[in-house]
Amino acid sequence: MSRGPAPQPESRGRTGGPRDILGRVNGPEIHVEFAPELLLFVPQARPAGTMKAATDGVSSLGHVIESLGVPLTEVGTLLVDGHEVPVSHVPAAGESVTVRAVAHPQRVPGAPLRFLLDVHLGTLARRLRLLGVDTAYESTDIGDPALAARSAAERRVMLSRDRGLLRRRELWAGAFVYSTRPEEQLPYVLDRFDPELRPWTRCTACNGLLREATKEDVADQLQGGTHRTYDVFAQCSDCGRAYWKGAHHSQLVDIVERAVASRGERRGSAG
Ligand SMILES: [Zn+2]
Repeated sequence: MSRGPAPQPESRGRTGGPRDILGRVNGPEIHVEFAPELLLFVPQARPAGTMKAATDGVSSLGHVIESLGVPLTEVGTLLVDGHEVPVSHVPAAGESVTVRAVAHPQRVPGAPLRFLLDVHLGTLARRLRLLGVDTAYESTDIGDPALAARSAAERRVMLSRDRGLLRRRELWAGAFVYSTRPEEQLPYVLDRFDPELRPWTRCTACNGLLREATKEDVADQLQGGTHRTYDVFAQCSDCGRAYWKGAHHSQLVDIVERAVASRGERRGSAG
């Protein structure tokens, strides 16, 4: 089947060729329909979710969608005139493109599922660790290239609200975090990736694994009241931090119980 017309001499390449008043390359025009979940990235497609887009006759559909503002991490199935196509498809004039959102739960190859969070997602990082999800996070901004390289090297799913970071090709996988509120971010990540939960097994400070500890093991970290009141302790095998059922415990129990219950509901509804 045709994969589109040969590039017209006047529209060849990204920089040559005629452009419209917005500076867009005046090449083949396509019709694009976006899933509702993606419209925050393409306000120009509101309210109907559809828009016309000029392409350059050589760029892939993936590039065209990204150029319109949608991170490919958020894109699921692509249809052209009702037939599924890869992101490498080069759109031809008059094609009608449907862009679906990524399916939930999203399966990421290379299990076990691991995450890497950018500097703005510290609370989410601690909550994922509380649930036993392997979550790397650094409280200083190491920069997009270093984050992307770490995602690739450690096969971690990059979670961010930075579209520029999510466009980096080196990423193992990535996901846009839609909310700025941790109490919405955590359910979103759990629903999107459905990770295995092992509550109370990781250090919320450093992501290390916890092991049982005696009062003597952690005595140097305990104040008098804690020392007298508690007998069950855990200790991070990486940083040595001591854990016990202290003052904030009921809040943490609530977070864990909600997460475990929501996972049960997802499993139940999935049959
Ligand atoms: Zn630790």
